[in-house]
Amino acid sequence: MNQNWHGTLIRHMLLLVTGCLVIGLITGYYGWSLAAGLGLYLAWTLKQLLRLHEWLRLHQPDEAPPDGYGLWGEVFDSIYHLQRRDQRVRGRLQAVIDRVQESTAALKDAVIMLDSDGNLEWWNRAAETLLGLKTPQDSGQPVTNLVRHPRFKEYFEQESYAEPLEIPSPTNDRVRIQLYLTRYGNNEHLMLVRDVTRIHQLEQMRKDFIANVSHELRTPLTVICGYLETLLDNVEEVNPRWSRALQQMQQQGGRMQTLLNDLLLLAKLEATDYPSDNQPVHIGTLLQSIKSDAQQLSGSKNQKITLEADTSILLKGSEAELRSAFSNLVFNAVKYTPAEGNIRIRWWGDDQGAHLSVQDSGIGIDSKHLPRLTERFYRVDSSRNSNTGGTGLGLAIVKHVLLRHRARMEISSVPGHGSTFTCHFAPAQVAQARVISAAE
Ligand code: ADP
Repeated sequence: MNQNWHGTLIRHMLLLVTGCLVIGLITGYYGWSLAAGLGLYLAWTLKQLLRLHEWLRLHQPDEAPPDGYGLWGEVFDSIYHLQRRDQRVRGRLQAVIDRVQESTAALKDAVIMLDSDGNLEWWNRAAETLLGLKTPQDSGQPVTNLVRHPRFKEYFEQESYAEPLEIPSPTNDRVRIQLYLTRYGNNEHLMLVRDVTRIHQLEQMRKDFIANVSHELRTPLTVICGYLETLLDNVEEVNPRWSRALQQMQQQGGRMQTLLNDLLLLAKLEATDYPSDNQPVHIGTLLQSIKSDAQQLSGSKNQKITLEADTSILLKGSEAELRSAFSNLVFNAVKYTPAEGNIRIRWWGDDQGAHLSVQDSGIGIDSKHLPRLTERFYRVDSSRNSNTGGTGLGLAIVKHVLLRHRARMEISSVPGHGSTFTCHFAPAQVAQARVISAAE
């Protein structure tokens, strides 16, 4: 095997030439015998080449190469060994692929591979149970044709997949699934799907519990507050010393009522994905009325509240929910801005959709609080909260309303200088006043 074939070949050629010359010496025809010798050698080489070609073309996977002499035998063997090595590597690779496929098939979570156009390429067994994919019919089908939930299409078409999507399973309404999408390679997608029915049920129980407790507490609280009011009206006749205590009770009762109302509103917002009414809302008019309420709330603080609104831009959605969200932002600005401060409300539209911003010259918020500000009951400063009588639920309500209207909120703030809360609504949510009047 490790023979020096270079030297051997030269030796063979020298032997051939010497043999031919000897024959030439005997016969007297040097030229002819040399030509005949080389011709024979060429014919033999061509024959070996043809045998090799034949074997390469027709051999069975494990068939040994034909026997060959000298260098040709070595060439046959080398090719044969190369092929065997290649087969072994392929076998090992196939074993790895089989193991990966077996392990993913055993997974409870679904794994789906999609090509750059969103067509199904490969999926495991769990994908058949969770998404109802059928092997092999669905191969090459667009995933949006098979998972037909409207929120899935929206989710799939967006640019980044920071958050997972939770929807009911297409095979069974009672099963909740959570989908994670990741881009890889040449804009291909990897989709992971988990069954989160149990977590969803627990979450639902928590929501129902809060909603039920709030609902049950509302009636007794209304009765208590009603009697407190009557008692306060006649406090002089009953016992004048109770006046202060009764006033504080009434004030705290009022706070509890606002808290219950906010909790109930949040529970209602969480119950569905989108508002049931999706009518174009005149945001300009809505903001005008919120502004005059804010002016009243401001009262002796005498803040300067300005409104600049593009009245031609309407928003599809629920007027009641939008009123609640926008008034929370404006009333917060009034609450957290000192007397004589400025509050600027703006409503405008551009290529990216419609935008509402509420800017104040108030106390501002430290940047470390900004990421958590929309959490329920999150307070920047609890003492500040009790002064303003807030519930700590206002911004959580705003966040939910915006989510339901395909919008997001941006908060920028400088402590001591003021804050700006901006809501960005997607173009799909915007309606033009002209179009509406034409339709009417
Ligand atoms: P609250 O009912 O306490 O106002 P929110 O959820 O509306 O609850 O607001 C959460 C917290 O965010 C508030 O306690 C307050 O500290 C802060 N905050 C909200 N809006 C403003 C604002 N415009 N300026 C300064 N701080 C604000």
